[in-house]
Amino acid sequence: MNTATETVSDDDLRVLAEQLGREPRGVVGIAARCVCGRPTVARTAPRLPDGTPFPTVFYLTHPGAVAAASTLEANGVMKEMTARLESDDELAAEYRKAHEHYLGQREAIAHVDEIAGISAGGMPTRVKCLHVLFAHALAAGPGVNPLGDEALALARDTWSPSRCTC
Ligand SMILES: [Zn+2]
Repeated sequence: MNTATETVSDDDLRVLAEQLGREPRGVVGIAARCVCGRPTVARTAPRLPDGTPFPTVFYLTHPGAVAAASTLEANGVMKEMTARLESDDELAAEYRKAHEHYLGQREAIAHVDEIAGISAGGMPTRVKCLHVLFAHALAAGPGVNPLGDEALALARDTWSPSRCTC
C-alpha cells in the first residue's frame, strides 16, 4: 500500500465533501484519482472517529463513477456476475484472492475485531455492490479484482478514470 504517496490535502477534503454532500469521515488517504487530480476513491479507516466499524476501505466518491456503477447495478450486472462465480472455478478463485487483498489492505491500516474476515461488496462469493468493486479496482489497479476490472470496462463509455468529467 502506498499511503505515503496518498497524502490527503485540505483541498482533497473539500472536494470529498462536495462529492459526498457531507463531511468525509475516517479518510486516511486518496487511493485513486481522476486524471485531473480530484479524488475518485477515499481510503477509509476501518473504524470511524465515532467508533463505528467501517468495512469499506475503498470508498467510491466520484459522482460520475458512482452514477456509472449504479447504472450497471440497475442493468442486472451483479446477478449475472454472481451466477458466473457459481459456475466458473477460476473466476471464483481470483475473486477470493481479491477478497484477501481487500482484507490485507484494511489490516495494514488497523485491525477491527467486529469486521475481521468480512470484506465488502459481497466478496468472496457474491457481487452485492458494484461501487465497492469499482473502488477496489481503481485503487488496486488492473489484475487484482477481476469483476471490478470488468465492471470498469463495462462502464467505459459513460465513465473512465482516464477521462475527466469532473
Ligand atoms: Zn477530473
